Order: sequence, then C-alpha cells, then structure tokens
Amino acid sequence: MTAHRRLSAFLIAAFLTVPLSVSAQSPATDLRPVLVQGAMQLEIEKLAGRLADVKVERVGGWTFWSGTLDGYPVVVSKTLKGVANAAAATVLAVERHRPIAIINQGTAGGHDPSLRLYDIVLGTSSVSLGAFKSRYRPAGAGSNPLDWKVLDLMASEGSAGNDPNEHNVARFPGDVGLMAAALSVKQAYKRGRVVEGVIGSSDIWHEELDLIARFRAEFGTSAEDMETASAAQIAKLSKVPFLGVRVVSDNITNGDPYDRKTGEACQDYVYQVVKAYIATLKR
Ligand code: SAH
Repeated sequence: MTAHRRLSAFLIAAFLTVPLSVSAQSPATDLRPVLVQGAMQLEIEKLAGRLADVKVERVGGWTFWSGTLDGYPVVVSKTLKGVANAAAATVLAVERHRPIAIINQGTAGGHDPSLRLYDIVLGTSSVSLGAFKSRYRPAGAGSNPLDWKVLDLMASEGSAGNDPNEHNVARFPGDVGLMAAALSVKQAYKRGRVVEGVIGSSDIWHEELDLIARFRAEFGTSAEDMETASAAQIAKLSKVPFLGVRVVSDNITNGDPYDRKTGEACQDYVYQVVKAYIATLKR
C-alpha cells in the first residue's frame, strides 16, 4: 500500500467511526425511556399521537412508537390483548428499549359496585386471576371455580399444586414513585374519580357475580383486565418499576355497560401522569 492509499484508508475509517461514537455518547441516547403500554388501538393511539419525533417500529405483531415528551424519551407500546401478548410485548420492550419505568394502562371491568364508568383505578398491586388448581370432581359432577385453590406460579420451583407455599395469589406491587406521580395529577382528571386499588388479570372476562365476589373478598380486587398482572410480573423479574392505571369501561357488579370512549379518557390522564413522572427524572 502506498502512503497515499494508507492515508485514504485511514480517512475513510475515521469518517465511518467518528459519527457513530459521538452519537453513542450523546446524553439524549443514554436516557432510559418511560414505557407506556395499552392493549388495543383505542387505548394507545391518542398517546402515541402526542409524542414528538416519533419513530414506529414493528416486531412481529407488536408495534412500538418511540418519541419524546417534554424532551424526554417515551415509548408507547401496543401489547395486543391478553396475558401472553402483554408479557411478550413487555419482554421485547425491556430488551430493546431498557425502560426506566413501565405504565400499563387501558380499560377494565369494575369489581367494586361503587366504581362508575370513567373512574380510574391506580394499581397498588395487581394479581393473577388465571392460576388455580381445581379440586377433584368425578365425571358428571360439573365444575365450580368457587372452590378452586389459588396457585402462585412464582412461589417455588416445586410441583405447581403440591407445594403449600403456592396457595397464595401471585401479587405484584405498584411502584411508589410512579404512584406518587399519578396521585399528584389526580385533581386534573375531571371525568370521574381516581382511586387506589387492586387490579386482577386473566384471559377471562368474568360476568359471574359470585366468582367476582370471591376475587374481591380474597384478593381485594377493584377491577379486572387481561394484561396488568402479566406485564407487572415481567417488570418485577426485570427489576423495572411498574404501575397499572385502569379506567372502568364496564361494571357488571352495578350494570354499567361497556363504553369504549373510556379508553381515550384514560390516555388523557396517563399523559399527565407521564409528564409528572418525567419531571422527577434526572436529565
Ligand atoms: N368490547 C371490546 C372487547 C375488549 S376485550 C371490543 O369489542 O373490542 C377485553 C380487553 O378490554 C382487554 O384488553 C382487557 O384488558 C379490557 N377489559 C375491559 N373490560 C374488561 C372486563 N370486564 N374483563 C376483562 N377485560 C376487560
């Protein structure tokens, strides 16, 4: 190689590497984003539309909108419905975006008859309503979920069902810092009340009042959905602060019928929560 060629090769290498290393060191890219999840389009599109400088990323069936809010990075994620989809979307987001905190939000069915449509439940904790061991019944004896034993699939490595430690509900606490941010903007929400409570999740939409009464008595549930506890489980295993925020879209315990517009109201409130939380973060 001539001296001239060596110089050209060096310049090309320098040109290719310098911009990359500069951008990797820029403080904006080091900030870990706040992740906001919702299962359905009607639960995320308003929030995604409010981000600045948005980039859309599709991974399999999941969609992520990465942008900024008040100059801080925020990722909005459409998890799709149900516990498996929500868990998978949470793992993808943790791996790809390293979120500093996760808010799972959207619609829910009331378990507490005093909760009306548009009221919002902030999850002090969330519980799985999908893990039980049924008691033996012979053929022809029917089924009774009221006597099923609760299973905590996180409790031990022993056989699910035979370990006495497993007969507690799997419970995932809401993060104190996220809860404080949510409570700080409570007064700004005019569509209903904002209360603290337990959110229960499974792939089942419950309308049997005796079973709902059981969940309420045993686990203290205020509302049910199909995602919060599963995203919370992944957040806990990944050591990421988490909060569930759910608007009552229907309540079989007092007859309030499903209203899809509640999903928009929840996003308006969560927008304020994210702004309040971002204001507490170091830049
Ligand atoms: N009627 C809606 C169905 C929503 S399916 C439609 O036609 O699209 C359930 C979704 O709404 C889940 O993502 C769940 O988190 C939430 N949800 C609202 N009310 C619920 C309830 N009573 N039980 C379980 N999930 C509920």
